[in-house]
Amino acid sequence: MQWLEKWLFPPTCVITAVTTQKHDLDPAFIAKWQIGSDVCPRCAEPSPQGLLCGHCLSQPPRVSRTQVAFAFEDELRDLMYQFKYHQQLHLSRLFAELLAPQLDAQGIQAIIPIPLHRTRLRERGYNQAFELARMLSPMLNIPIISALTRPIATPNQTQLKAKQRRQNLKQAFAADAALLEGLDQVALLDDVITTGATMQAAAKQLESAKPGLVVEAWAVGKTH
Ligand SMILES: [Zn+2]
Repeated sequence: MQWLEKWLFPPTCVITAVTTQKHDLDPAFIAKWQIGSDVCPRCAEPSPQGLLCGHCLSQPPRVSRTQVAFAFEDELRDLMYQFKYHQQLHLSRLFAELLAPQLDAQGIQAIIPIPLHRTRLRERGYNQAFELARMLSPMLNIPIISALTRPIATPNQTQLKAKQRRQNLKQAFAADAALLEGLDQVALLDDVITTGATMQAAAKQLESAKPGLVVEAWAVGKTH
């Protein structure tokens, strides 16, 4: 009955409200936010010809690869804000639909959403990374494993400098080794990657719980 649903409720752009062909987003935005191929495969920072960047060469990060769908700017920033802070949970499906086809998920055995501390979770009522994972999981046929928790409340990261962020994140996560048993390769999932410090800290925790675990980082957007 998908055709009927489509006929009754045609896809409509969440930004411009015009009827679209496929996703609830005008394809012009998808093209506009496209990150291109000139990014480092490991950290997703700009890098000519998509080569490993100098930073990753000299100081290899803990994540083996970073895959993001879009540059986090303009309308995407506003849309993500609605999703994250204004209960616009329906956007999780759109974001997952846009992210899924851009991911190379080969070999990934589990999606691990970046957790929120329980106080933040209570305030917000949901974890946007988990909501995103819930949509993405059936699209990729990869299970979600909540192997990370956030026992320590870290201050709002957006206000902090990179160095302070790293400091605050050092002990922020805890990993459940039992849940990681039998896994070799997992993907961390978040809505947005800013400096990458959150992903690094989460990956570090996973690796100490399961030595040798290969950890990737996935997100809808990346700031540059
Ligand atoms: Zn890099």
